[in-house]
Amino acid sequence: LGRHTGDQRTHGFDYNGVRFSQDNLNVFAGLCAVDTPEHVERMLRALHENGQVCTRMGAYKPRTSPYAFQGHGKDCLPWVFELAGKYGMRVIAMEILHESHMDEIREALEKTGHPTGVMLQIGTRNTQNFELLKAVGRQQELPVLLKRGFGITLEESLNAAEYLASEGNTKVVFGLRGMKTNLGDPHRNFVDFAQVPVVKRLTRMPVCIDPSHSVGSRDAGPDGIMDVFHVTAQGVATGANMILVDFHPDPATALVDGPQALLLEELPWFLEDVRLAREAY
Ligand code: PEP
Repeated sequence: LGRHTGDQRTHGFDYNGVRFSQDNLNVFAGLCAVDTPEHVERMLRALHENGQVCTRMGAYKPRTSPYAFQGHGKDCLPWVFELAGKYGMRVIAMEILHESHMDEIREALEKTGHPTGVMLQIGTRNTQNFELLKAVGRQQELPVLLKRGFGITLEESLNAAEYLASEGNTKVVFGLRGMKTNLGDPHRNFVDFAQVPVVKRLTRMPVCIDPSHSVGSRDAGPDGIMDVFHVTAQGVATGANMILVDFHPDPATALVDGPQALLLEELPWFLEDVRLAREAY
């Protein structure tokens, strides 16, 4: 990934008709967690109507409480992939928590008749799950979005990405999603998007930002500006190459992270904001 070879030329990769590199930008708006077929379909239809071919859909959810909804798991994959195909989605970012999830996803993808693909997401809680990283790195078919660890150094997170590459998978996007602090920040996590250019300088990986999990709330401040929009623009203006962002047709009924989800009506404005911020970059 450029960290240990000294070769920092940007390379990027293509997956399922979508280019990932340090020179372009892909938006992955979607549901934090797959819940009902109706919500998934409304989300995908809105994306399709707005010219989007990538989305995020969580089937396996890492939850702080064992009593919270853990995701529908493999049971939802057939209908999620069917709907994704119907609305022309090329790449779905989907978190996995265990290496068996990778096989479940691959099997379900093979069974759909659609050209939909999956980018395997490794979440912040698994950034240093080295055995999972090695297993994901051994397969070279599906690309990977590796989120930074929220309580470790950037260097440690970049080394985690090398676990994927050292096993053979260099189709890796590095994700910034905010850091834990005990300083009483207004956001759920300390927003770390100033590190976009740092990661791009140190490695060859495209860099993703996750404004939703960084900020943790869609609430507008007294000025009426929503922080999710604001920090997205900051990340894009510093050169982000991918945006993972939560939307929901009915956030009040979302089973995971409803308070941070943007509304489907806001999707066109969000995409326009992203376009303007990218122009400013
Ligand atoms: C997510 O993107 O659904 C998620 C749980 O993110 P993180 O690992 O950054 O908390």
